[in-house]
Formats: sequence, structure tokens, C-alpha cells
Amino acid sequence: MSAQTSSAPDVIIAGAGMAGVTLALALADGGLKAVLVDPLPFDAQTAPTFDGRASAISFSAFRQWRALGAAEHLEPHAQRIEQILVTDAKTPGAAAGPPLPFALRFDAAEIADRCEGEPLGYLIENRHIRAGLAATAQARGIEVLAPVKVTGVEAGVGAAKVTLSDGRVLSAPLVVGCEGRNSVVRRAAGIGVIGWGYGQSGVVATVGLERGHQGVAYEHFLPSGPFAILPLTGDRASLVWTESAARGEALRGASDEAFHAHLMRRFGDFLGKVEVLGPRFVYPLSLQLAERFHTERLALVGDAAHGVHPIAGQGLNLGLKDAAAMAQVLSEAVRLGEDIGSAAVLERYARWRRVDTISNAIAFDAFVRIFSNDNPALRLARGAGMALVNRIGPARRFFMQEAGGAVGDLPKLLRGESLAA
Ligand SMILES: Cc1cc2nc3c(=O)[nH]c(=O)nc-3n(C[C@H](O)[C@H](O)[C@H](O)COP(=O)(O)OP(=O)(O)OC[C@H]3O[C@@H](n4cnc5c(N)ncnc54)[C@H](O)[C@@H]3O)c2cc1C
Repeated sequence: MSAQTSSAPDVIIAGAGMAGVTLALALADGGLKAVLVDPLPFDAQTAPTFDGRASAISFSAFRQWRALGAAEHLEPHAQRIEQILVTDAKTPGAAAGPPLPFALRFDAAEIADRCEGEPLGYLIENRHIRAGLAATAQARGIEVLAPVKVTGVEAGVGAAKVTLSDGRVLSAPLVVGCEGRNSVVRRAAGIGVIGWGYGQSGVVATVGLERGHQGVAYEHFLPSGPFAILPLTGDRASLVWTESAARGEALRGASDEAFHAHLMRRFGDFLGKVEVLGPRFVYPLSLQLAERFHTERLALVGDAAHGVHPIAGQGLNLGLKDAAAMAQVLSEAVRLGEDIGSAAVLERYARWRRVDTISNAIAFDAFVRIFSNDNPALRLARGAGMALVNRIGPARRFFMQEAGGAVGDLPKLLRGESLAA
């Protein structure tokens, strides 16, 4: 990765995480030059100890990566999700047995005609996503300044200035904050956030399974919150389960034996013996929404704009949709001879993403409240709701299209079309 910029960029992107690199690739596809800045060297981000999570990627978000040339690096690590089983029974494996009265089953075969045989989504470990995107960016000649931090941002007439931790100053017509929840760009723009903590943590571990998972993802609702068993390549699974913050901390420090025993009480034995592979991770969970997605010359994408609960596995997918929408708006603006950092152009991006983001954040927040609860009446009501959706084919198909990110006014890249076309 180079240490200084070679020619003036159109866009400076603070943060070379999964949303930031996708945005840089999408902008390059639309004919714009971006420079990425990140305090972490790319090779540190791809170590298994850096981020033990895997992400459920919607089929439309994966289409974007395919259109941007990243699929060859990602496909070898991508597990197809063929089915999703949602249960509210006493053990996760209950849904694998005889039909339950209160369970919901989504099957990719049901929407095969509308999405050309694509699965419901893909499960990929974050380190492989980061490595695959980094390799694609490198092949595309995208400049990355790393390791160095963005420490200050100032919007001026015709350009914004970015100060780096090594004292260098860069400038461009537009600066995009992709640096996650503690966005420097967001603070510099004077954009506030609304949100709240859930008093919960997401405990994450990768496990090896004795029996094959057959591409099935399980979401099981326990009183403390959802317990997800997400299929990975090679008969492994990524577990994400929600615990109270206090119990999450206890699990972080627990011995390997105690952690395994605790895990097995929740997991059950329906997939045979379960072996914990590698380190465990504990993430505090909260909702955080930026009050605006832009000001003149500054804009926000990904978790810098919206951090949501992982209950539906959609946080990154929302950020990837932001990237696709922003790249399309900016490339159209260039074609029309407009200033890409102007409030008028950035408002088109914000208008496109605002409703989708807010409606999803509200829905996930409601799911957390409804499903992290052991109230018998609520359990009965949500079980009945699941059973109802399960019986209505069009409702099931709608939810599958929605989770696949294929509903509404889709940016071209999410339809798999290049911006250059
Ligand atoms: C337990 C858990 C499970 C999840 N599972 C899923 C899932 O299955 N599917 C899904 O879609 N989403 C999931 N998410 C959400 C997803 O992980 C996030 O939405 C996603 O990581 C956000 O990506 P990002 O690139 O916007 O930000 P980040 O991943 O936070 O990346 C920010 C980047 O900015 C850099 N940076 C920080 N400060 C600066 C600075 N000052 N200057 C320059 N760079 C800086 C960082 O080094 C980093 O590289 C999950 C979240 C959790 C907690």
C-alpha cells in the first residue's frame, strides 16, 4: 500500500473496513477516483484474532461484489444459505426434528424463479471478506493510506481538507466517513446520533460440527435473546448468541471448559459433537443512528451512519447498499457536470437511503424487544405470528426477498449491473 496519494482524488474515504473498500470499488466502477485511509494495515485486519465474526451477506449485496470483480476472491470462502429455520422451542435443534407448531422455515427453492437459483444469502468470515476486498482493491489500483488515522476534517469552498495523524493534509471535493460507530467525519460535520444500548452482548465463536449443516442457518429464540447457528464452509458454524452484558463479560473470561459447557447447554446435540475453534469474542450491542447522512462536502456510509443490533444479520448489508447508492448518485452527478460534494447531490444519496435505513432499524429494535423476552403471553403471540407467516407462501417469499435486499428501489450494483454499463 502506498504512503502518499499520486493524483488528486475525487473522494477521500475515512475507513477501509468492508463498507469503505466496497465504496472505493463501486466509485472506481463509476469512473471516480477514491483514496482510502485506515489506521490498520490490511494484513492485520485479515488475522483470525482480529475479528472472529462471520457475516450473513444478502444475495443482492453479493451481486454487487460480483459486479465489482471481488467474487473470485470471496466465493471459495462463501457458504450458501439454502434454508433458514427460526424456532422458539426449548433447544435449537428442535426444528431439525418433527414439524413444530411454532417454527418458521425459509427455503431458497421457493424464490428460485425470481433470483436465478441464488441462495438466501452467503455466510463468509469477516477476515476473508476483508482479504478478498483488499486483493480486489489492490488489483484495481485503488490507493490505500495505512496505517494512518484521519484526525480532522474541515469542509471549505470547493473542497474538504482531511488531516492525518502523521501531519499530512489531503483535499478532495468530497469526504466520506466509513470509520464505523466512532466516526471522526460525523463529529466534524456536527451530526449528532440517536440510539440506546440494549444491555446485551453478542457472544461469537466458530465451531466445528460432527454432522453436516446442509447449508441451514438456525435462529433460535432464548429468553436472553437470539442464538444463531450460521453455516460456514467445511462443516463449521459461526455462533452468535445474545446474553446480558454481565453474562457476556463472564463468558469472555470463562475457562475453555466452562465456555464449552455453557455453549452445549444452549446448542444441544442435534449436529453431533461441537468443538470450539479459535478465540471467542464479545461485542456490546446498541442502536446508533446518525441524525443526518450528510452536510456540504461530508457524507456517511455504513456503521458511521447506522449501527444496528445483529438480530437479523443486516448491519453490513445496509452499509453495502449505502455504498451502491452513493456510487450511483455520484457517477450520475459527474455525467451531469455537477459538484459531487454539493448538498444537492448528497441529498439525493441521503433521500435514497433514509427510509430503508430507518424502517430497518425500527424493525430490528422491535424484534429485539419481542424476542429477548420470556413473558408467556408474548411467547405465545410471537409463536402464533411465526406459525401464521409459515403458512402463508407469499408472506414467506416477501420476507426472503426483503432479507435478500431485493425489495424497493435497488441501486444498479445490487441488481448485479456495473455503473460503467
Ligand atoms: C456480533 C455481530 C454480528 C454481526 N453479524 C452481521 C451479519 O451477519 N451480517 C451483517 O450484514 N452485519 C452483521 N453485523 C454488523 C457488521 O459487522 C457491521 O455493520 C460492519 O462491520 C460495519 O462495517 P463498516 O465498514 O461500516 O465499519 P467497521 O467494520 O467498523 O470498519 C471501520 C473501519 O474504519 C477504520 N477507522 C476507525 N477509525 C478511523 C479513523 N479515525 N480514520 C480512518 N479509519 C478509521 C477502522 O480501522 C475500520 O477498518 C454484525 C455485528 C455484530 C456486532
